[in-house]
Amino acid sequence: MSKKVIAFISQLPLDEQYSWVKQLSKQLPDENIVLAKSLTKKQKEQCVIAIVANPEPKEVLEFTQLLWCQSLWAGVDALVSTFSPLVAKNLDTKKVGSIANVNFKISRLIDPQLAQTMSEAVLTWTLYLHREMHIYQQQQKKAIWRQLDHKLATERTVGILGLGELGEASALRLKSNGFNILGWSRSEKKINDIRCLSGEQGLIKLAQQSDIVVCLLPLTSDTQHLIGQEFFKELPPQACIINFARGGIINNDDLLRFLRNKPLSHAVLDVFDYEPLPKDSEFWHHGQITVLPHISAPTNRLTASIIVADNINHYCATGQLPICIDLVKGY
Ligand code: NAP
Repeated sequence: MSKKVIAFISQLPLDEQYSWVKQLSKQLPDENIVLAKSLTKKQKEQCVIAIVANPEPKEVLEFTQLLWCQSLWAGVDALVSTFSPLVAKNLDTKKVGSIANVNFKISRLIDPQLAQTMSEAVLTWTLYLHREMHIYQQQQKKAIWRQLDHKLATERTVGILGLGELGEASALRLKSNGFNILGWSRSEKKINDIRCLSGEQGLIKLAQQSDIVVCLLPLTSDTQHLIGQEFFKELPPQACIINFARGGIINNDDLLRFLRNKPLSHAVLDVFDYEPLPKDSEFWHHGQITVLPHISAPTNRLTASIIVADNINHYCATGQLPICIDLVKGY
């Protein structure tokens, strides 16, 4: 009996697509994982499962019988905003065609290794800001020899927006390095030694008390531009921002205004509205902004393939999908 085809749909460079298919095929020897571009129209119409990594929406729509899209990324805002009927009104129909028949579930990558990698990045850049490397860099440019007062980690509060897979791991890692942690999420949470907040008042409290704010929220219609003027005005002087989630969560004009008014503040940005960050963006040369090229938590090919293989094997054995994205909440 011929093996059923699982499509691999992606806009990654071809060599990366081949590497993914090779690694996934090693973990799923009983399945036939094939690059979407190598499939015939008929094969595409028979596929029920697709593994996707930043796919072109129009290409996904060629798979008319699709039941399940397993993403290799943790963030699926681009997929959700394209295929959620709730946001269909914002859809560029010329680009993706009709979504009337889109009926498949989307699951994202939930990988404990990814959470560890992200928490390592959060710790790295929190320490950078805590030890005031951003100020010493500015001083060096002006040949200024000045030793700033040293603060203990226990004297700093880090506010973490989003207490999901990545936010909780980061909160616990920072806590074990001595920082005071405030966390904020949609639902109320209890996490050992972490003060957990929620709701609008919780967000204001977090802003007022945080020396460093780390954003690990998904980008949804609720979180778009959540970090804007109203939030910035509550922050203490010298407060710094780390955005490792999605560019759209910060209002850039408000961020630039905040940095202008608070010359000792700094923003570490790994994610942007448009990626790669356009060459003419003023962020590149802004003395109070560190630009990173979306590297805080790359998906690990081996651990991700093992998790995706487990999900697919479980589905084939039981018909049960992993936890899927709630298209109403948007994450
Ligand atoms: P997750 O497990 O879904 O957690 C999301 C957290 O955000 C949850 O605590 C959720 O609250 C909270 N949240 C969502 N909407 C909210 C709202 N409107 N108000 C308050 N809290 C809200 O996601 P994750 O795996 O931690 O990933 C977070 C994001 O990181 C991803 O969506 C992706 O964009 C980004 N990411 C970036 C990189 C990178 O390299 N830069 C890598 C991976 C992921 P509840 O717990 O109450 O639901």
